[in-house]
Amino acid sequence: EDIILEVNDLKKYFPIKGGMFNRTQGFVKAVDGVSFKLRRGHTMGLVGESGCGKSTTGRTILRLAGEKTGGQVLFNGREVYDFTAKELHDARTKMQIIFQDPYSSLSPRLPISEIVGEAVREHNLVPKDEFDDYIDKVMEECGLQPYHKMRYPHEFSGGQRQRICIARALALNPEFIVCDEPVSALDVSIQAQIINLLHDLQEERGLTYLFISHDLSVVEHISDAVGVMYLGGMVEYGFTEDIFRNPLHPYTKALFSAIPIPDPKAKQNRIVLEGSIPSPANPPKGCKFHTRCPFAKDCCKEIAPEQKELEPGHFVSCHLYDE
Ligand code: SF4
Ligand code: MG
Repeated sequence: EDIILEVNDLKKYFPIKGGMFNRTQGFVKAVDGVSFKLRRGHTMGLVGESGCGKSTTGRTILRLAGEKTGGQVLFNGREVYDFTAKELHDARTKMQIIFQDPYSSLSPRLPISEIVGEAVREHNLVPKDEFDDYIDKVMEECGLQPYHKMRYPHEFSGGQRQRICIARALALNPEFIVCDEPVSALDVSIQAQIINLLHDLQEERGLTYLFISHDLSVVEHISDAVGVMYLGGMVEYGFTEDIFRNPLHPYTKALFSAIPIPDPKAKQNRIVLEGSIPSPANPPKGCKFHTRCPFAKDCCKEIAPEQKELEPGHFVSCHLYDE
């Protein structure tokens, strides 16, 4: 299989400063043991409650959050954190990110042609005399009219602005795009259009996506694989079908219990979580989910479960599946 991205035990801690000398007093363990593999041309949905570390995982993979605290990020087999400045600069075209809020991620002072073309010029990706045609083509590919290219972001609707963000990423001819809640800020009627656009671009260009979302129905629709995060860790991941048909981790089951299911028999398996998510500055020992897990055993409080492959491509971190 053709793996474009492999993440092994990735950790990203942020220091908490305080006191008279502004010393480090602890760490927010935003990403704390994330492991997965992503196939080229696939979409991996990343789900979990807000604050579980989805966005930080995406940003840490792209080296947009400073140094990592631990673990590996292998992009096309190479450690991203070993790239030289020059290699990183080049890799920036191959690894892109699209954000939730198309309003704040576009400069209000630049016309669309500049927004889409700025980095293309900086990276010298196309000859000068082909530049205008190139930008037109990318805009068209994203469903934007090239004759609008001298207009400014405020003249466009939210959906159009997200198309501009996608065009800006696409213009660099990327292989991999982190999509961080790309449709969450949009009207439901517009969401499907943007999802379809991302899907079409993937088909045409063989793109790979890490698709961060709290919307399980969107994730089920667009993803080939799904990863479930809780308190900075990846508790389960696998093919979308397997995860939705046969969720194995108690947290995944609880998360999916929130989806309305018409089948009354399925209701018997529902798990409703008590309590709130512990602070990532002071996560529970052992399995981080043990304070809320209805199946917690003694060992769960002491020993962190290892990630095990329970069916082909379906990985779970939970002591319920220890031999
Ligand atoms: Fe629950 Fe234990 Fe599994 Fe954690 S390891 S999810 S506490 S059963
Ligand atoms: Mg987020």
